[in-house]
Amino acid sequence: MDVYKCTLLSNDKITETSCDMRVLAPEMADAKPGQFVHVKCEGFTLRRPISICDVDGEVLRLVVDRRGKGTEWLTEQRVGATLDILGPLGRGFGTHGRVLVVGGGIGCPPLLYAAKASDSADAILGFRNSAAMMLLGDFRDACDTVQLATDDGSAGFRGRVDELLRRRLSEEKYDRVLSCGPTPMLRACKRVCEELGVPLEVSLEERMGCGVGACLVCAVKLRGADGEYVGHVCKDGPVFKAEEVCFDD
Ligand SMILES: Cc1cc2nc3c(=O)[nH]c(=O)nc-3n(C[C@H](O)[C@H](O)[C@H](O)COP(=O)(O)OP(=O)(O)OC[C@H]3O[C@@H](n4cnc5c(N)ncnc54)[C@H](O)[C@@H]3O)c2cc1C
Repeated sequence: MDVYKCTLLSNDKITETSCDMRVLAPEMADAKPGQFVHVKCEGFTLRRPISICDVDGEVLRLVVDRRGKGTEWLTEQRVGATLDILGPLGRGFGTHGRVLVVGGGIGCPPLLYAAKASDSADAILGFRNSAAMMLLGDFRDACDTVQLATDDGSAGFRGRVDELLRRRLSEEKYDRVLSCGPTPMLRACKRVCEELGVPLEVSLEERMGCGVGACLVCAVKLRGADGEYVGHVCKDGPVFKAEEVCFDD
């Protein structure tokens, strides 16, 4: 893991607030699904963590949603710009066997690379509404089936992804479920997977400081064989076995 100067090869708006960006990063060609990069944004000391959405040879794909000033700066960068990127960082997803990926909103991008790396994958993807949907064509190419849910019913199933997850796990066998999205969604997925006895890995997108385990900004409560302890999302994750994560449940 090191800092690299990467050329921005493309930057395409895919929803009202998010951009699909490709950067030339030959040094990160061996990045694993679920790992992330830490991107320097002009005017900020702290880098911004962004999941690796895909790797194609020497090209890294990142999908960035504009949340505040840092991601606003990033999404405004033009093709040819040089980005200062630290990575690849963190521990990724297990992708062995038959996998079901369950994504929510901007949590979907890292699951694309995980689905592509798995032996066989199905996807359940949830969004606020049809305008927020992203990467559907990519998931359809990478997965055997893709099921959609929207909160307002403007596309696919009206409701939450954990309802679809429950139905799917009652009907089909999977070696693992991989999930990334808002914390309430991850908590609900954990409940379903526990009830139905399927291993679940979750990627946590906590606020982050240094990205390499030196500060405590991304501290998270974990549960091990010897009881509860504090871990770092950046170093010990961002992917964890769901049973290790204390979602205050
Ligand atoms: C491991 C990891 C992977 C991530 N992957 C992606 C990704 O692939 N694409 C993407 O668009 N974003 C991703 N994020 C979230 C992204 O890092 C934050 O949205 C970003 O740091 C916000 O910076 P900002 O300067 O734009 O906004 P800020 O001014 O810092 O914050 C603006 C708003 O964003 C919220 N926010 C800040 N940090 C986070 C965070 N880490 N998670 C959720 N909300 C946050 C704040 O509460 C505030 O409401 C990831 C985060 C982590 C930890």
